[in-house]
Amino acid sequence: MIEKISALYDKSIICRHCETPFSTKRIRGGSLTMEHRDADFCTRFKEKSMNPILYSVNVCPQCGFAFSDQFNAKLTPAQAKIVQQKISSKWTQKDFGSIRKNEEAIACYKLAIYAAELTDQPHSVKAGLYLRLGWLYRFLDNTAEELRFIGMAVDEYEHSYIHSDYMRGDKEMSEIRLLYLIGELHRRLGEFDSAIRYFGKALEFRNSTIESGIIRMAQDQWQLAREEYKEKQKFKGNEHEIG
Ligand SMILES: [Zn+2]
Repeated sequence: MIEKISALYDKSIICRHCETPFSTKRIRGGSLTMEHRDADFCTRFKEKSMNPILYSVNVCPQCGFAFSDQFNAKLTPAQAKIVQQKISSKWTQKDFGSIRKNEEAIACYKLAIYAAELTDQPHSVKAGLYLRLGWLYRFLDNTAEELRFIGMAVDEYEHSYIHSDYMRGDKEMSEIRLLYLIGELHRRLGEFDSAIRYFGKALEFRNSTIESGIIRMAQDQWQLAREEYKEKQKFKGNEHEIG
């Protein structure tokens, strides 16, 4: 328990709407033991209650504006006005700056998604929020909500691909990684045609990328998606015969 607590530290944040300084928790890099990484990059740690994604949303206790570090640095006057009307005027002071459980983190992500939609943040930023919210539901074994938000994430990632804003949300995101991720999210949604198409796009980088790990993952998941697709067709066939 002591180790767990020392992994957390307080970070000072300035609200990007009302400019009030406040404090929020973060997890020290390298302080957790990685246990498993899902094929869509969701990382599980041995310290189950301590995933860094619990803390990636900052919520201003004063005005209710919720944002991640990837949000645009400043709001335009028009955006500030709409945040004032739709968020701050309805906000009762609430502090998310201490240790967060899954449910609290979910509330933070929902606030950040609302703020991101109102202030027109880049698609990649919105995609990252939807995906991580899906993962929080995965941790709770709530598959229906997980897939609902993964559906929204893939939509935003596809826009991000078309508009090439994917460098904005995540420094580690490259074109091939994004194509692979879109494929994998479609696969999880049972949208095998799209999954296979995007894995194929990622595999086109086979001879031109140094990201050989992603190429291997794309090959494996492409194979898996093809098998799942065949299974589905078989099942459909059976259904037809029965019907
Ligand atoms: Zn604020």
